[in-house]
Amino acid sequence: MAKHVYDFTEGNRNLKDLLGGKGANLAEMTNLGLPVPPGFTITSEACRHYLAAGAVPDGLDQEVAGHLDALEKKMGRKLGQADDPLLVSVRSGAKFSMPGMMETVLNIGLNDESVHGLAKQAGGNERFAWDSYRRLIQMFGKTVLDIDGDLFERALDELKGRRQDTDLDAGELQGLVKTYKGIVREQTGKDFPADPLEQMRLAVMAVFDSWNAPRAILYRRQERIPADLGTAVNIMAMVFGNYGDDSGTGVAFTRDPGSGRQGIYGDYLQNAQGEDVVAGIRNTIPLEELERIDKHSYDELLGIMQTLETHYKDLCDIEFTIERGKLWMLQTRVGKRTAGAAFRIATQLVDQGLITLDDAVTRVTGDQLAQLMFPRFDAGAEKKKIAKGMNASPGAAVGKAVFSSERAVELTEQGEDVILVRRETNPDDLSGMIAAKGILTSRGGKTSHAAVVARGMGKTCVCGAEELEVNTRDGSFTAPDGVVVSEGDVISIDGTTGEVFLGEVPVVPSAVVEYFEGAEPGDELVKAVDRIMRHADAARRLGVRANADTPDDAARARRFGAQGIGLCRTEHMFLGERRQLVEDLVLASTDEERQAALDALEPLQKADFVRIFQSMEGDPVTIRLIDPPLHEFLPDIVDLSVKVATSPDVTEKDRKLLAAVKRLHEQNPMLGLRGVRLGLVIPGLFAMQVRAIAQAAKEVPGARPEIMIPLVAAVQELESVREEAAKILAEVGVEALIGTMIEVPRAALTAGQIAEAAEFFSFGTNDLTQMAWGFSRDDVESSFFHRYLDLGIFGVSPFETLDREGVGRLIKIAVEEGRAVRPDLRLGICGEHGGDPDSVHFCHEVGLDYVSCSPFRIPVARLEAGRAALSDTDSDTR
Ligand code: PEP
Ligand code: MG
Repeated sequence: MAKHVYDFTEGNRNLKDLLGGKGANLAEMTNLGLPVPPGFTITSEACRHYLAAGAVPDGLDQEVAGHLDALEKKMGRKLGQADDPLLVSVRSGAKFSMPGMMETVLNIGLNDESVHGLAKQAGGNERFAWDSYRRLIQMFGKTVLDIDGDLFERALDELKGRRQDTDLDAGELQGLVKTYKGIVREQTGKDFPADPLEQMRLAVMAVFDSWNAPRAILYRRQERIPADLGTAVNIMAMVFGNYGDDSGTGVAFTRDPGSGRQGIYGDYLQNAQGEDVVAGIRNTIPLEELERIDKHSYDELLGIMQTLETHYKDLCDIEFTIERGKLWMLQTRVGKRTAGAAFRIATQLVDQGLITLDDAVTRVTGDQLAQLMFPRFDAGAEKKKIAKGMNASPGAAVGKAVFSSERAVELTEQGEDVILVRRETNPDDLSGMIAAKGILTSRGGKTSHAAVVARGMGKTCVCGAEELEVNTRDGSFTAPDGVVVSEGDVISIDGTTGEVFLGEVPVVPSAVVEYFEGAEPGDELVKAVDRIMRHADAARRLGVRANADTPDDAARARRFGAQGIGLCRTEHMFLGERRQLVEDLVLASTDEERQAALDALEPLQKADFVRIFQSMEGDPVTIRLIDPPLHEFLPDIVDLSVKVATSPDVTEKDRKLLAAVKRLHEQNPMLGLRGVRLGLVIPGLFAMQVRAIAQAAKEVPGARPEIMIPLVAAVQELESVREEAAKILAEVGVEALIGTMIEVPRAALTAGQIAEAAEFFSFGTNDLTQMAWGFSRDDVESSFFHRYLDLGIFGVSPFETLDREGVGRLIKIAVEEGRAVRPDLRLGICGEHGGDPDSVHFCHEVGLDYVSCSPFRIPVARLEAGRAALSDTDSDTR
């Protein structure tokens, strides 16, 4: 029978798949000899079984009972024992961290009897015991029994009045427990469960269920976390930060996750339990102040943080509790950080001798690099600063202030940019945070919910701007000098400095983009990027080319490090004023008329190619012959029909054009007359393009044209086009590779034949995905993908990240069969996936020669290609 429960002494950090991040790292800390309260982890496999079958796996209850028994022996107390109770926490913990998205229940084991035992245990501290009990009912009621949490909050607020929760005495808390139990009875029709084992069992199932809570689903989708992982559950002996002022709880980072700066960094809250810190119930104090309050624990904490950083060789974040002067570690993990901090920390760790430069490249991601390429505020612009908060997540965001997540979503759907302003955020704000350009809160530190989630998403966030009085009910906030900002007023927030400005502040390109454009690396961040990029470039095996069809794009791509153009689409060259010539081509009724239209197009095409060859200065340029169906270049059928039917000045040409548009109309144009089929059906069309390429190449010294035929499905299609193209090249006296796109499944499956007639393959994974799945690439993402994502049919759209199992298999077949026939067959990819991190790793793994992507993704592709080469066994790009 499968093992579903692991004691903390049994696991280790490498078992994240099974024990979740929290469980694996608790085990690692236990094995390091750090002070971790004893406990055990129920595996995510058990959760998956529960979610699929609707019941826990056979034998789980007995296994849990065995581990609980061992825990009780270790602690010398029994769960919920009336005179001296053991209490436990039940916490979620998935493979990837999902801050605040799933459930936690603390103080399990308390009831009307054991609350007295707990008070006795605490040296007669009645207040503490009743506070713990009310917390249990509140958390359990909300998360396990699904009762509206506001009911409990309101009862607490009424009791507190203007006081802090720490001001409530034992008698008042006892009264609150009574009120809470009344709420439970009223809302569920049943009494709060007094049996400790029953409490624990229900809490475990609630944690399992929370994997599928709407906010968890939304978060996973946003963070591209697969839907089928499930969560592990950690059951741990409780330690108490709410004993009194000699106790407390905190979160800390081994260095600043915002800037990467070295040094201790965190928040501490005296006389409190863990959830109080994140919820922002009371304002935390900076961790440094703990030195004054409890020097012994502070020194021990610093030592442990040092141990963890050296052990994990990375920034770690931790949660800890101090119980009457004794320090306990409740969690650690390699901490989330901003994109800038990731680059800085990676190079700092190299300088400290903790990791190599190879490691440093694998420590940063293409997504982080992409974030650093976002614009920032123009330093020279006039700005009206109205407040300053904490720089929780960098970037520059401008938008209309909104005060609820619902409004954020609504206005965003109407095409507006918004900044979500809240006193503090909670997990229910996730949809608004996703919709908003930036997040501004008046409360909470850099470890608050808003800060942690925004950083994880790469979204600009300023938090804890305490000077702002936020009034969510009226939808406004007041800044110190009396400025009132109401819903709809535009504000600008700077997540790098924490500043808040009234009105729209102009933005300028990022320093990292300027560096890629050729500026010398100036500040520490750009130097770190430069160092890592150089190393990635030296390590990578994959070439990186650009998808570019204009000289400007081509030139930028080159500055960004492109080693050629992998896809120059020629269709934009048929738009604008040239539509007229396409119309002439379509309307031609004789060979002479058609040739005249092509002759008119040829010099224009040639001039385009000359400019592109010039801007690529001798690097290869893959030019794809025209691909889209011709009707795309003609007037809209409805507009034209209306004109012909109603306009007084309709011409004979309009009528002919309408007839042609009707003739060319297709039910499924994506599967119709396009690509190589056009070249075979319209005589002279491809020949004109090839001649224009050849003549342009002849005119530009060093030009390296490559001619690419789109949408080939059978070698016979390619052969006849190839023969004609080769003849023209010979006539003009120019050499060029002739190859094909592999974007139709049949082409992949017959790649061995096709390679006989092609010197290169370029995988057009946009169409290949469309045709492999039978998904219309123009429609399905907005129509039903959200349902597919919810159902976990895939974790991320296959149009974004290459579907390794299906589309990837087609590519593998084509690579193997193509190279078997032609060992020097050159292989690339030019679909959108060429700039997607995970897909770049796939391309490396299957042995392609290059990836081609849009100019702005080129640095990302370079970095990911380097990472792929340096971590051949690790395809997890998160
Ligand atoms: C493709 O299909 O992947 C491709 C690059 O071509 P297009 O997107 O132009 O169809
Ligand atoms: Mg295509």
